[in-house]
Amino acid sequence: MVDLIVVGAGTAGIPCAIVAAQAGATVAVLEKDSQIGGTLHVSAGHMSGAGIRRQHDVGIDDDTVDRHFEDVMLLSRGEADPVLVRVAVEEAPHTIDWLHDLGFAFDPETPTIYLGHDSYSRARTVWHAAPAGMELIPMGRALGILETLQPLWDEQVAAGRIVPYLSTALASLIVEDGAVVGVHAQGPGGPLELRAPHTVIATGGYGSSPELFAELTPGRPRLVTNAWHTATGDGIVAARAVGAAIRGGEKHNYRLGMIEIEPGSGRGDMRKDFVNLSAAVRRPDEIWVNLRGERFADETTHDITSQERTLHDQPEQRFWLVLDEAAVEGPQAPLPLLWDRDRLRAAADAGVFVWRDATLAGVAARAGISAAGLERTVAAYNARIARGEADPLGRSGADRPVATGPFYALALPAGVLVTFGGIHVDGQLRALDGAGQPIPGLYAAGEAVGGGATSGIAFCGGMLVTPALSFGRILGRTLAAAATRV
Ligand SMILES: Cc1cc2nc3c(=O)[nH]c(=O)nc-3n(C[C@H](O)[C@H](O)[C@H](O)COP(=O)(O)OP(=O)(O)OC[C@H]3O[C@@H](n4cnc5c(N)ncnc54)[C@H](O)[C@@H]3O)c2cc1C
Repeated sequence: MVDLIVVGAGTAGIPCAIVAAQAGATVAVLEKDSQIGGTLHVSAGHMSGAGIRRQHDVGIDDDTVDRHFEDVMLLSRGEADPVLVRVAVEEAPHTIDWLHDLGFAFDPETPTIYLGHDSYSRARTVWHAAPAGMELIPMGRALGILETLQPLWDEQVAAGRIVPYLSTALASLIVEDGAVVGVHAQGPGGPLELRAPHTVIATGGYGSSPELFAELTPGRPRLVTNAWHTATGDGIVAARAVGAAIRGGEKHNYRLGMIEIEPGSGRGDMRKDFVNLSAAVRRPDEIWVNLRGERFADETTHDITSQERTLHDQPEQRFWLVLDEAAVEGPQAPLPLLWDRDRLRAAADAGVFVWRDATLAGVAARAGISAAGLERTVAAYNARIARGEADPLGRSGADRPVATGPFYALALPAGVLVTFGGIHVDGQLRALDGAGQPIPGLYAAGEAVGGGATSGIAFCGGMLVTPALSFGRILGRTLAAAATRV
């Protein structure tokens, strides 16, 4: 019998186990992968906190936890859980300063107002410096969090207070007299049973489970994902099986710019195949059209959440960027990260996520868009520019027509970065049943509680990684205290 079982050694589980072990508890950690880290292996690792030392270091002294709270509630369209957001933003500065104390190497450009999501009112987002030569790649920076925490993990493992079970997957939770008292798992040596008064589900989201994604997301959309391969929702399913309420799947939001390089694979990799569509960093010359060849969004708005949310209403949640040769040659060409124009043209000739043709009808046929629809849309778009009229979708700035072939169409799916549904927890991170009552012995942290809990129907900068680390720390602290009181 240990004091605490943590299921999942990722963003939330690692700090949970470390903090509990540092407070004297013995912690069994189940990890189904052969290594620890989970989504920290791919995440951009943006973290946000108000009043952090890093802000004071660069003269930002007017940020507060209340401002952070208000920003999140505003950007999440009021759809985040205010109780959990309050807990998250209060712990965030302690979490980030903790990493700071541990020698976390901040990117020199941070803190900043990150422009890839709707903007905070203050520069409070930080991330790790890039490894040499990798400065242009925003993803994977969360590895810096893992590297910062690794020595603490190793120390507690060496002391015997963290007992890691690698390649060991949670199978089910053990319930006795209405309380969760342990887990059944499958390890390299066969089935395993572990018991503890407290079990923390920190198994992440379900962005790598097409079945659970379809089940929890209204409209049962096809999954094209960038989630870490272990994010199959195991902890959510296990908690649901013992009566935990699952909420938030309907808040799902998509991330713009992911590419499904291998058609039908259902996967993207934003570390290398990603088009930054944020109009705050690049004013688009292209138009965005859906399967019917119709425009559906203001391509130039800085309201990124509204752009993302328009994808929910498009057939098959797919869209294409359509542009002409002049736009490809121009300074705003929508090139994927690390791609140059030659690579784009070669991919277009091979028909790898991008197509080109001398005519609009030809490129539409190749890309699978309605040719008649695209021709109608481009004709109306060009005529509107010629007449100098306002754009019906609100597009702003000086537009140039889509006029001179060859024409290009880049296919972009509505990509999944994180999943929004998860285990309903209260402000103490206790799993709740359908009647809103805590299930004794069961807790959850990280994406297992659903991205919607702390980010609503939007992406609020850093509001997944920071709450995962913070909720892990809080549970480590409180459950170790409960164990040492017994
Ligand atoms: C490409 C990408 C970029 C992102 N960028 C950002 C960002 O910049 N800022 C931000 O706030 N959020 C970002 N996110 C989201 C954020 O990184 C994740 O929500 C967060 O890291 C998830 O943490 P977690 O602890 O819940 O899950 P994970 O870190 O994935 O950890 C879960 C662990 O549980 C293990 N596990 C799963 N099932 C079982 C089982 N049955 N038994 C035992 N172990 C199991 C897994 O192997 C894994 O190690 C990004 C996500 C992606 C994919």
